[in-house]
Amino acid sequence: MTRTLYTGGQLFDGTGAAPASADVVVEDGRFVEIGSGLDGDEQVDCTGKSLLPGLFDCHVHVMFSGIDVLRMMQTPFSYPFFEAIHNLRSTLDQGITMVRDAGGADLGVQQAINNGLITGPRMQISLGMLSQTGGHGDDWMPCGASIPLLVEHPGRPSTVVDGPDEMRRKVRELIRNGADVIKVATSGGVLSPRSDPRRGHFRDEEIAVLVEEATAAGRFVMAHAQATDGIKVAIRNGVRSIEHGIFLDDEAIEMMLAAGTWLVPTLAAPRAVLALADLGAGLPQHMIDKARMVVDVHTESVRRAIAAGVAVAMGTDSGVGSHGDNLRELTLMTDCGMTPAGALHATSLSAARLLGVDDDLGSIEVGKRADLVLVDGDALEVDTLGARIHSVYSDGKLVAEPGRAATG
Ligand SMILES: [Zn+2]
Repeated sequence: MTRTLYTGGQLFDGTGAAPASADVVVEDGRFVEIGSGLDGDEQVDCTGKSLLPGLFDCHVHVMFSGIDVLRMMQTPFSYPFFEAIHNLRSTLDQGITMVRDAGGADLGVQQAINNGLITGPRMQISLGMLSQTGGHGDDWMPCGASIPLLVEHPGRPSTVVDGPDEMRRKVRELIRNGADVIKVATSGGVLSPRSDPRRGHFRDEEIAVLVEEATAAGRFVMAHAQATDGIKVAIRNGVRSIEHGIFLDDEAIEMMLAAGTWLVPTLAAPRAVLALADLGAGLPQHMIDKARMVVDVHTESVRRAIAAGVAVAMGTDSGVGSHGDNLRELTLMTDCGMTPAGALHATSLSAARLLGVDDDLGSIEVGKRADLVLVDGDALEVDTLGARIHSVYSDGKLVAEPGRAATG
C-alpha cells in the first residue's frame, strides 16, 4: 500500500489546535501518521502551503444556479440536473468535500457522485422542505397557479403538509425516497410568494411528530427558521440545527445553548438575493423587499449568537446565489465577531458533528478519512482563502486542483 507524505506545510487540523508545522501521511485513503520527520513512498511538497481538513458547507442547493424566477420558468425540467454537475465541481474547487443539500438534490444526484459517475463533494440530501399550507415551501401564486422553483417528481415529492398525521406520513415518504436529513420550514422565508419571515409555521404537535419519526429512522432535522416563534418551536422539539436564525431573541439563544442546537447562519443568503436584484434577475418585488427587511437584523442576531457561544456550522445557501464562492461566508462570520480559527472550525469539525460524521471526517486526525485541502499561504487569512485553494483530496484521491488552473 502506497504511503503518501505531505511535508513542509503548516497544519490546521480542525480540532481547535493552533496551526503548526507537521508532516501528514496518508495510506489507503486515511490519515495514518501525523508528526515530524515522517517518510513515505510518494511525497507532496507543501512548502509555503497550509493543510486543512476537507471543508463543509451545511446548506447548499446544488440544483439551483442563482434564483431568477422568470429564467427558471423557461428552463426545461431536466436542465438543473446538468447544471448540478457544474455546481458540484465549483463547490469542490472551494475545498468543500462535504455538503448538506437543503432541498432539490435527489437520490440520483447523490448516487451519481457516490458511484463516481460525476465528481462532487460527499452529500447528505433532504429532497425537499416540509412546509405548511401557505408556508415557505408552498409555491401558490396570487394568480392561482403554483410555480415551484423546482417541480416535484417521483424522486422529490411535494412537501406541503398540515397536521401530525400528514406530517408523519410525509416524513416516512421522504426517508423512503432517500432523505438523509429531514428539512422543515418552521417559519416563513424570503423566496416564497405568500409567507412572512416574521411568522412561525407548524405548531408543537406537528414538529414533535416530525422529530419523533426522523429520530426513529436515525435522521436529524434541520429547520429553516427565521421567525422567533418558529425558531423556538424547532428548538424545544429537538430539531438539530436552526438555518438562517434571523429573528433570534435572547430567550432563543438561551434555549439553543441549553439544548445544544446548532446555528447555520447563511449570512450570504439575503445578500445574494439583493445582489441578484441589482444584476437585474427576474425576481418578484416581494422577494427583494423581504431580503432587504431581514439582512441587518439577521447579521445582528448572528453576532449575538456567536458572542453567547452558540455552536455554529458554516452554511451558505449557495444556489440562491451562484456556487463557487462559498468561503466568502467565512468573512461574513468573522465580521459578526467570530475568530478566523472559529470560522474554520465551523467549516470543519463543528460541521462534521452537526452532520453526525465526525467519527470519520472534519479534522486531520489519525484514522480519519483523508479529505484534505492544500492552500497557498496562511489558512487563517480567511478573507482570501477561497482564491488560494491549491488542491483538494477526498479519501486521499486528488479531486480538484483549482490552483493549477489559476497558474496555467
Ligand atoms: Zn436554503
